[in-house]
Amino acid sequence: MKYEGSIYRPPSEARSLIVQVAVGCAHNKCTFCSMYKDKSFRIKSWEEIKEDLDEARENYRYIKRIFLADGDALVLPAKKLIQILDYIKEIFPECERVGIYAAPKDILLKSEEDLKALKESGLGIVYIGIESGDDQILKDIEKGVSSSEIISSGQKLKAAQIPISITLISGIGGKEKTKEHAIESARVVNRINPEYVSFLTLMLEEGTPLYEDWQNDKFSLLSPKEVLEEIRLFIENTDLKGSIFRANHASNYISLGGILNEEKDELLKNIDEALSEDFFKPEHLRGL
Ligand code: SF4
Repeated sequence: MKYEGSIYRPPSEARSLIVQVAVGCAHNKCTFCSMYKDKSFRIKSWEEIKEDLDEARENYRYIKRIFLADGDALVLPAKKLIQILDYIKEIFPECERVGIYAAPKDILLKSEEDLKALKESGLGIVYIGIESGDDQILKDIEKGVSSSEIISSGQKLKAAQIPISITLISGIGGKEKTKEHAIESARVVNRINPEYVSFLTLMLEEGTPLYEDWQNDKFSLLSPKEVLEEIRLFIENTDLKGSIFRANHASNYISLGGILNEEKDELLKNIDEALSEDFFKPEHLRGL
C-alpha cells in the first residue's frame, strides 16, 4: 500500500484496511485541525487506487472492513467512488462494510440518485465531523458549513439509507459558548437522528490558529468538570431514537457510552457520579 503522509481514521475503523483514495482534505481550513496541513489535496488516479487494492488482495486472506481515506474522501465524484466500491465488491466479496469521511458539502453536492447508487455499490457508513451545531462556533472555527446545511446533508444520507456517524468536539466553543455548543449540537443531531454520535474532547495542537488564540487569551479551554457538564447538557437536550452515543476516545476525560434515548437516565447518572467524585483522566494520559 502506498500511503502519502500521516493517515487518520475513526476509532471504530482501527482494524479496517485503509485505502487512501485522496490525499489530504479539500477544505483544510478548520482552525483547530492540524491533520492534513502538510499535504496538498489531490484525488488519486484509478490506477493508483486499483494497484493498492490488488496489492491488499494478494497480501490479506480476509478483509472484514475497508475505510476510504483521507479527510473528506466523499468529495470524489460519485462515478469514481462507485468504480472503487464496485471493484472492492468484486475482489473482496467477504468485506462487510466500507466507510468514508465526508464534509456536509460533499453530501449536498451529490444527487439523491448518486447517494442511492453509492449505497447499492456498498457504501456502509459515512463519518461526519460536524464539531458543533452552533452557527457562531461553526463560523469561528471556519468549518465552512452552517447548521442548516449539516442538517440537510444528514437527512439526505438518511433518505438514501446510508448509516451516519457524527462526531462533536467538547470544548470547541470555549467557556464563553459552552451552553450554546451543547444545546445547538443536540438540536442538529436530533434533526438527523444518526446511527452513532460521539464526542472527542478538544486538544489544542501547536501551529493551529486556535492554539494561537488560546496562547493570546482569545480562547479559553474548559476544565474536565466543565467538559462533563457540557456533555451532560447535550445529552439532556437530545431526543433520539436508538442512536448509539459514545465518548470513549483517548482525548475524553471519562469514558461514556449508551443508547439514546433508552439509556439517557443512566448516562446522566454516570455523569453525575463522575462529577461528584471529581476524578478525571490525567492530562498526560489523554491523546488524539
Ligand atoms: S474538514 Fe476535517 S480534516 Fe478538513 S480541516 Fe476540517 S477538521 Fe480537518
